[in-house]
Amino acid sequence: MKLSVIVPCYNEQETIPLFLAEMAKVEAQLPLEVEYLFINDGSKDQTLNVLREAHQQNERVHYLSFSRNFGKESALYAGLQKATGDYVTVMDADLQDPPAMLVEMYQKIQDPEVDCVGTRRVTRKGEPPIRSAFAKLFYKIVNKIGQVEMVDGARDFRLMTRQMVDSILELTEYNRFTKGLFVWVGFNTIYLEYENVERVAGETSWSFLGLLSYSVDGIVNFSDAPLKIATWIGSLSCVVAMISLLFIVIRTLLCGDPVAGWPSMISIMLLLGGIQLLCLGIIGKYIGKIFLETKKRPIYVIREEA
Ligand code: UDP
Ligand code: MG
Repeated sequence: MKLSVIVPCYNEQETIPLFLAEMAKVEAQLPLEVEYLFINDGSKDQTLNVLREAHQQNERVHYLSFSRNFGKESALYAGLQKATGDYVTVMDADLQDPPAMLVEMYQKIQDPEVDCVGTRRVTRKGEPPIRSAFAKLFYKIVNKIGQVEMVDGARDFRLMTRQMVDSILELTEYNRFTKGLFVWVGFNTIYLEYENVERVAGETSWSFLGLLSYSVDGIVNFSDAPLKIATWIGSLSCVVAMISLLFIVIRTLLCGDPVAGWPSMISIMLLLGGIQLLCLGIIGKYIGKIFLETKKRPIYVIREEA
């Protein structure tokens, strides 16, 4: 039996050797042949050279190098496509996904009822509090309005059977939110819990704004609720407008028409204008997704492969 380890890498020159060293220890405890598939996602540092060298030293280390940075989601898709193992795992290069957990994950996946063993961070220590707070909020929203249930703190780090990987590969959409796709395909997933580990070296490539837009993608890709909410806001403001119109007509008939209310009118105009733009923005977001989807561009472009 063979295990494919998929590792997306963006500027990970320092972490790759540490990762391989750590994995070598784990390999000895696994009754599996292990193949590595590193995806160099347009790194600007020496990542590609480090990978070339690793491939020279160990023929079970393979790599794909993209022609530019396509993002982690594209790298994961490329890795899943190229993986040949009976089991497939997805890991970060920075050792935030503890390789030692693979041993227990492998034991758990031996149960024929289990198709996937995922991992879940139960703490977020070492992370800026604001980032954790927004992450919590994201899971609350997406689980309320989304079509899939995403587990709070679940990582992409997971061990999957070939059957599950094949199902994920059938989802060929361009706008990929892999966390959601893992859940969408179904299958029986169990989660192992662990405490957050900080990056061994290098820096995170996620800025706060980047994460914010990633979470908007997560919501838009898995839910049409924002469109419904826009409809509801529109309907609600129509009802309020009709009631206030009625009120104004009756008041004018009863009390005459002293010209007043300039500031309130401006505020109302601004509010309605704002609501309209907001709803247009929401619709625009979906149209943007459709636009990208209909172009049917490849999800990644490979420049070098070994
Ligand atoms: N990554 C990638 N392409 C990108 C950004 C990140 O392949 O555009 C990889 C990165 O090398 C790492 C993993 O995705 O292996 C997770 O990234 P990072 O550690 O920066 O994110 P964090 O753990 O802080 O969420
Ligand atoms: Mg990381």
